[in-house]
Amino acid sequence: MKRFFCLVLLACVLLCGCSGSSAPVRETVFCMDTVMDLQVWGRDAEEGLRKITEELNALERDWSATSGSSLLAQMNRGEAPALLPWQAELLERVEGLSRRTGGAFDPHLRALSEVWGFSEETHRVPTPGEIAAAMEQPQWDLGAALKGYAGQECAGILAGMDVDRAMLVLGGNVQTFGDKPDGSPWQIGIQNPEGGENLGILSVTGTVSVVTSGDYQRYFEIDGVRYHHILDPKTGYPADSGLRSVTVICRDGLTADCLSTALFVMGLEQAADFWRESDDFDAVFVTTGGAIHATEGAILSGCQYEVISR
Ligand code: ADP
Ligand code: MG
Repeated sequence: MKRFFCLVLLACVLLCGCSGSSAPVRETVFCMDTVMDLQVWGRDAEEGLRKITEELNALERDWSATSGSSLLAQMNRGEAPALLPWQAELLERVEGLSRRTGGAFDPHLRALSEVWGFSEETHRVPTPGEIAAAMEQPQWDLGAALKGYAGQECAGILAGMDVDRAMLVLGGNVQTFGDKPDGSPWQIGIQNPEGGENLGILSVTGTVSVVTSGDYQRYFEIDGVRYHHILDPKTGYPADSGLRSVTVICRDGLTADCLSTALFVMGLEQAADFWRESDDFDAVFVTTGGAIHATEGAILSGCQYEVISR
């Protein structure tokens, strides 16, 4: 299911996101449990693509919660692997973002995801006792953070090369790099959670992360009830906050990814207040009723929406 939606998102981005004078060098890879579409323009495009693919695979090796040899798996077994300074810093930043969101983004939900069967795609509704037990076992899971970090790292690699621009679609995460030659903005579709045509189009310029968390990306249904993969750390159940999706636009990829998940958990009102207290991102919300709300810095077209003001 997740792969399907990634492909839809990818198609949306491709339909409306990319134009320019020369053709990009392009590759589709499967990494971090998702389909990624990487397009790079410029003299070093091929080399750039090779380097970022290497980087994505290296980050997955280090931080996958499912591979037994990763750093996270070692830590989850109670081992204390030696961390390089950048690795320790990443974990500190992640913990900082968890604190900033009052725990709505919680990087320790691995055991909880596991009892819901989201880690291995063995979906089931756990008993309240199983949920409570899983919540007592904090285990690392960077599933809500890693693709955003990875996108930004890739943009950083391209910045040191003779690359004009890039559009990297990492599942529900979009990372742009540079500007289009005609100066027009990158255009990124806001997916309709029900499928079909995009709800609207976001315009962004330069190097930026645009990350969406939605209840339609990974879910299962039993007896007509939808259980999705974004869990409320307070209840242990899929977040039931009145939102279908949250898209965060931020210059920092890690922040974008952590916040998209956190704001989804918070729900519209709390998320809007959180945005008012912040100055580093904008966001677009799609509610369960189908309404669209966007913070005043988000440049959204092709749909009717309510503006969230400071
Ligand atoms: P995706 O990874 O599908 O793009 P998210 O970035 O929202 O979507 O991350 C969801 C993933 O993060 C889940 O699959 C799970 O591994 C983990 N997760 C679920 N709920 C939370 C939460 N409240 N905080 C942090 N991580 C979470
Ligand atoms: Mg996220």
